[in-house]
Amino acid sequence: MIRAPRRRYPPAGAVDVVVIGAGHAGLAMSRCLAELSIDHVVLERGEIANSWRRERWDSLRLLTPNWQSRLPGYAYRGPDPDGYMSVSDVVEFIDGYARLIGASVKPHTTVTSVVAEACGYRVATDRGDWRCRAVVLASGAHGVPAVPAAAAALPKSVTTLTPKTYRNPDQLDGGGVLVVGASASGIQLADEIRRSGRRVILAVGEHIRMPRVYRGLDIQWWLDAVGILDERYDEVDDIVRARRVPSPQLVGTSERATLDLNALTERGIELVGRLVGIDEDGKAQFSGSLRNHCAMADLKLARLLDRLDDWAAQHGDRPAFAPPERFAATRVGDAPRLCVDLARERISTVIFATGFRPDYAWLHVPVFDHKGRLRHDGGVVDAPGLYVLGLNFMRRRKSSFIHGAEDDARDLCAHLAASLRLGSGGRMPRGAVG
Ligand SMILES: Cc1cc2nc3c(=O)[nH]c(=O)nc-3n(C[C@H](O)[C@H](O)[C@H](O)COP(=O)(O)OP(=O)(O)OC[C@H]3O[C@@H](n4cnc5c(N)ncnc54)[C@H](O)[C@@H]3O)c2cc1C
Repeated sequence: MIRAPRRRYPPAGAVDVVVIGAGHAGLAMSRCLAELSIDHVVLERGEIANSWRRERWDSLRLLTPNWQSRLPGYAYRGPDPDGYMSVSDVVEFIDGYARLIGASVKPHTTVTSVVAEACGYRVATDRGDWRCRAVVLASGAHGVPAVPAAAAALPKSVTTLTPKTYRNPDQLDGGGVLVVGASASGIQLADEIRRSGRRVILAVGEHIRMPRVYRGLDIQWWLDAVGILDERYDEVDDIVRARRVPSPQLVGTSERATLDLNALTERGIELVGRLVGIDEDGKAQFSGSLRNHCAMADLKLARLLDRLDDWAAQHGDRPAFAPPERFAATRVGDAPRLCVDLARERISTVIFATGFRPDYAWLHVPVFDHKGRLRHDGGVVDAPGLYVLGLNFMRRRKSSFIHGAEDDARDLCAHLAASLRLGSGGRMPRGAVG
């Protein structure tokens, strides 16, 4: 592990770089900037690892194994490398990193606006303004839940939650629950709520099916070894699509159990298609695409396993590998329901596990496309001296994961350092890093 000297906090004023957000990504960037002796400050509206302290449900465990949790100069060194961290473990891990690197974090400092100035940016906060030459947006990819418009038509009697506001089944009344979205969060919440004895309906759209363990090894080991997590944003055919791929259906448990739709059906959860709307009588309408979505997920899983098997064969089919496996197709009932009368069926809660989008309401720089997405080239935002970290498949497939921060932060820090040397208006050519 590295030992970095403690840094003193400068007063609100001028600094070379402002990093917004003290999650793992902002801290990884802080570490890289410190290595190059670049003067910077990390502004955090709450405390270090704030999202993990405030915005996760109680039972959540990482879906990435402990051995995979690493940041620049830091890695999990505990007794259970194959386990999965709880939320408090993650907070401790990130807190420990901030202490280790002596990060110059200003907690309880909310950024309220970022505007471009002649020689850089003015970053306004509720504790004074900062002037800087460069800004790194490390405020997270999961700022706002992406709730479908249909939510607005739900009857007032129905409680709506998201993975940010759900904590545990005790906060629910005794009624049934409709979980919308069958990616990592949706399947985990559906499973937990069903185990609490409540009726659960799960609305399933596009999803990525994955076994927890394949040929005796954690699926994350395979994705890492085969290089899938290292695939770069400029190597894939359709990066816009790749960035929208949902999180895999994985859960971290001590039994290393697979949690797929078949497992959920066995536990008594009813599967329906994508939620397409709520009609004026409060009936939820679902698309007839369930079978197609499941067939597509099964097909993609088979292709992934073929790729892993090919890699294993090329690498000498080590004795550690158990024989190849194939998994039963997802079972879909003969006639999945297209309509559920929420009131009649006593569905009192709907949880929208439909993904997230970043929140840049305070970023007053013209860097958004017509859909409101940040324009960036692998994290180099379309404005001099502006960078972003932690977005889905930002530079690599692993960009939004804890272990993905190091490579991205190093690449972008090198770009940033060079642009500071060129002067704040300096523009680097595409592909100048990494
Ligand atoms: C449910 C869930 C499960 C996940 N599971 C895993 C997993 O198993 N393994 C894995 O590797 N990754 C996982 N991730 C992905 C990722 O590791 C986390 O989302 C992580 O929190 C992202 O880190 P970050 O530093 O990019 O952003 P965040 O941790 O969100 O940090 C951003 C920080 O910016 C601060 N901030 C935001 N706006 C402002 C502002 N205006 N002013 C000042 N500060 C601000 C926030 O308070 C926050 O502390 C998961 C994500 C979610 C949502």
